[in-house]
Amino acid sequence: MILIDGSAGEGGGQILRSSLALSALTGQPFRIEKIRAGRSRPGLLRQHLTALQAAAAVCGGKYSDGTGLGVQELEFYPGKVRAGTFEFAVGTAGSAMLVFQTVLLPLLGADEPSRLIITGGTHNPLSPPFEFVASAYLPLLRRMGADVDVKLIRYGFAPAGGGRIVAEIKPSRKLMPIDLSERGEQQEVFAEAFFSNIPFGVAERELAEVGTHLRLSPADRRVREVKSDGPGNVVMVTVASEQVTEVFTAFGRRSVSAEDVAREAANKAARYIASNAAVGPYLADQLLLPLSLAGAGCFTTGAPTPHTLTNAETIKKFLTVRPVFEQHDGAGLVTVRLGMRSA
Ligand code: ATP
Repeated sequence: MILIDGSAGEGGGQILRSSLALSALTGQPFRIEKIRAGRSRPGLLRQHLTALQAAAAVCGGKYSDGTGLGVQELEFYPGKVRAGTFEFAVGTAGSAMLVFQTVLLPLLGADEPSRLIITGGTHNPLSPPFEFVASAYLPLLRRMGADVDVKLIRYGFAPAGGGRIVAEIKPSRKLMPIDLSERGEQQEVFAEAFFSNIPFGVAERELAEVGTHLRLSPADRRVREVKSDGPGNVVMVTVASEQVTEVFTAFGRRSVSAEDVAREAANKAARYIASNAAVGPYLADQLLLPLSLAGAGCFTTGAPTPHTLTNAETIKKFLTVRPVFEQHDGAGLVTVRLGMRSA
């Protein structure tokens, strides 16, 4: 039984989600203690409980009796991954995208196609928004051989939730390594402001600010009113390069001006554009798992975040592959290289 310390490193929900995915993929049971001990409300929240239930559903897994909200330790016993049509409801605005990422990699290895319908948040602060998953994460997975498509049916912003995504996952051969040492020629930079149940003027001001900051042409500033259960507003900057597309996000929130929200997204994008990194800080921690399954591959990124370092440690508990962080001289660039453990 693999023992996982949920308080290690970053100490958040990702330790549980990565463990679930890796357990389902490798057939190794695990026990996790101190779940999300690094957070102000430790233990399982709705999103984590849904990810647990989802992982159990796709691999016929079992977990400790009495596991519910707030629980801080559990054991998980995976079975065999089976394709199917699965419907998971987070029940709050907790991230549907993170539940999707938990079961996606296991389902790629099933014998038949699967359909996932997940309701919850699709645009949450501190989680990958739908567009990040669709435009940044999944295209790289497809290049590695994954046959997967995801559609946004309804937007779900915090705190109302009510978002819905549908994913189609086809059986895919073992993931292939990918080399993301370079991001390649920059092809496109555009900004989007989505808003729901708030004044149009907020999104307009955001786009004006982000457009000025990043010197975007009017055609590269897109505003969209979307339908959602509650109010919501997000500014996203997409930077598409030859080898990789990145999406940088900031959320509109009470007592923060539209201009400040816009500058937050623009600054993240500007920092990435000015760097030589192929991969931004969020994509870095999320790529570790597929790259580890491929058994090899590399990417350049900035200084590794606590999420990236912690995810690397979780991966090492289940797989023999070793993420190695190679510091470059100056400029804060790091190459993350996945390779087999030397004997
Ligand atoms: P908690 O931190 O409360 O335990 P959690 O389970 O939702 O919450 P984390 O363990 O913090 O989450 O993991 C969050 C994941 O969301 C990480 O993989 C991180 O890269 C990703 N993420 C956060 N913000 C963004 C963003 N703006 N764009 C893309 N991905 C993001």
